Amino acid sequence: MRFTFWGVRGSIPVPGPQTVRYGGNTTCIEVHGAQDELIILDAGTGIFQLARQLQADMPLEASIFITHTHWDHIQGLPFFIPIFVAGNRIRIHGAADPVNQRDIHEVLARQMDYAFFPVRDNELAATMEYVTLREGQTTQVGSVTVTPMIMGHPVLNFAYRLESGGRTLVFTGDHEWPYNIYAPGEDGHTEYEAMVQERRAAIIDFFRGADALIIDTAYTPEEYPRRTGWGHGTYDTSIRAAREAGVRQVWLTHHEPTRDDAELERVFARALERNPPPDPASEPAIHLAREGITVTL
Ligand SMILES: [Zn+2]
Ligand SMILES: [Zn+2]
Repeated sequence: MRFTFWGVRGSIPVPGPQTVRYGGNTTCIEVHGAQDELIILDAGTGIFQLARQLQADMPLEASIFITHTHWDHIQGLPFFIPIFVAGNRIRIHGAADPVNQRDIHEVLARQMDYAFFPVRDNELAATMEYVTLREGQTTQVGSVTVTPMIMGHPVLNFAYRLESGGRTLVFTGDHEWPYNIYAPGEDGHTEYEAMVQERRAAIIDFFRGADALIIDTAYTPEEYPRRTGWGHGTYDTSIRAAREAGVRQVWLTHHEPTRDDAELERVFARALERNPPPDPASEPAIHLAREGITVTL
């Protein structure tokens, strides 16, 4: 299995000279299974450059898995050229939104409403299929088994665990670790804490033994208190989780749009200093995700 980052930025694209090393596009990861099955994780603006590269491979079959439908994870989809070309087969997977009862097709069709985009969803030339997933329901894409798990985010967000050819890749999408909403000593703190720990353990289990974990790492611990509840992790929570789950390599992503390349490297270096490996022998390789990098597992 191998994967390539096409977008590593959270919230909004930030192209320009200050972000050229890590890239300014929003989330998109291209994955190839052991038998070269094409899977795309999220459709942020990074998917446009991927689409240009895929033009040489058409007609093609692609399985897109959307973690959640915030703009930065879907806004490139109307510009994914293969959807306009007859002969291509595109299958899009994602969650139903339990708040407004819309399935993945309905949510995505809305961003192609006439007011926003000139081509309508029902005019796409490729064969389009939409699959609404439930937590734990596996999908087989050739040799690749894909399993979704609900993470902590203010709209339903699936992490995906991909297994193929004896290798495992996990991508969290956007994720904030569960936290206790009660202060110590308050009524409900103890019960809530048990729930938090149980949920946390289930998520660590979902990551367990992955060859690569790609994880939402938006904030520094100094920034986090003012952004609690926004649905994102920190450098420290990501590093700790990767160690606890025994993953081999971890890729920190969803970089803050306000951080230029130099600042990104500074906060990363400080995070490594703050979190020295407790056991260097089993320490995962820790990287900042960067546009254009291909990793073979
Ligand atoms: Zn996001
Ligand atoms: Zn989000």
